[in-house]
Amino acid sequence: MRELYFDSAATTKPCQAAIEAANRAFDEYGNPSSLHYMGIKAKRMQDHAREQVAKAMGCDPDRVFFTAGGTESNNLALLGAAYAKQRHSRVIVITDSEHSSVENTAKRLENEGFEIVRVSTTNGNLNEEELRRVLDRKVGVVSIMHANNETGALYDLELVRSVINSADCGALFHTDDVQGFLKSGTEGRSRRVTRICDLVSVSAHKVHGLKGCGALYIKKGLSLSPLINGGGHEKGMRSGTENVPAIAAFGAACGDWVSDTNRIEYIEGLRKYAVQQITKGLMDKVSFHEPKSRISSILNLSLPGVKSEVALNYLSGMGVYVSAGSACAGTKRENRVLEAFGLDRGEIESVLRISFCHYNTKEEVSELVDALEGATKLTERL
Ligand code: PLP
Repeated sequence: MRELYFDSAATTKPCQAAIEAANRAFDEYGNPSSLHYMGIKAKRMQDHAREQVAKAMGCDPDRVFFTAGGTESNNLALLGAAYAKQRHSRVIVITDSEHSSVENTAKRLENEGFEIVRVSTTNGNLNEEELRRVLDRKVGVVSIMHANNETGALYDLELVRSVINSADCGALFHTDDVQGFLKSGTEGRSRRVTRICDLVSVSAHKVHGLKGCGALYIKKGLSLSPLINGGGHEKGMRSGTENVPAIAAFGAACGDWVSDTNRIEYIEGLRKYAVQQITKGLMDKVSFHEPKSRISSILNLSLPGVKSEVALNYLSGMGVYVSAGSACAGTKRENRVLEAFGLDRGEIESVLRISFCHYNTKEEVSELVDALEGATKLTERL
């Protein structure tokens, strides 16, 4: 059976460069902390990867700290920044549509006595007025994601930075850039994020690297307390022997992406084609949930009357893989983010997230549209 993968927001296929880099690291399996030549070779691979990730993030390599993924980066950033700033203020500002790795970390802080304020993001628009109001006092941390993982909505980080500065609230600014990294525009917009924010979380497996690897950008001069204590790896920020194969693969995946200057345009073209074809094929049997500003890789829609689970099973049986929302929400379907966007119950129950990458083709999109048409007929058959 031919398999069509349209779930790149959940995870991506590792690219060839990433696989080759990981394989080299499997062969040169030394511990980068060892002083002998095997260790030195591993350390070199890690240093090279750090340079590649830093180039993709637009920052100095010594500001990139490897972690075990986006979840850990978000935990480290939010907890680290909250504790570092708690004498200044125990107020934390996030949005109502953050990924669970930020939302649940904020809840943990709330249990510890911090005050959490959530700014609304209806239709994928960060509410500027609300933001100005909540920042009109001392704030410890502002953590606002760059691109939303369910709807693809892009939040304006430059605006947030200017509000933080003009309000003079003294907050550190963190962004979860796991979905926006390398995907948020053709003009190096991804690279500007490290110039706007103090802390930036990214994840390897969303950009064709391996799972269980990510990084946190920490602005120079900022000191956070680590979550994991031990031998002082990653300049004491994240102890534990480094996952060199995954780190090397992350670097290679970044290098591969940066060298492919047409990738975003290609993905945007696919998405436009998909919207066009779905509109033509499904007509009134589909409603799109389109944010004004968005990344190209995510398309969120509902097939009214067709429950997401039913559509997913049907599509999966045909070898077409999409998602009903965030993979991290797992089986316990979470409506928080879609409610924040403003979808009603019926739309949420029938939502599908289709996400693209440069490996997808127009031909695949056409097959996807045929399969979606089949899914809309499911209720007629019941
Ligand atoms: N943040 C966002 C916006 C995500 O979409 C994800 C994963 O889906 C994460 C964080 C977690 O990243 P990881 O899977 O690397 O832990």
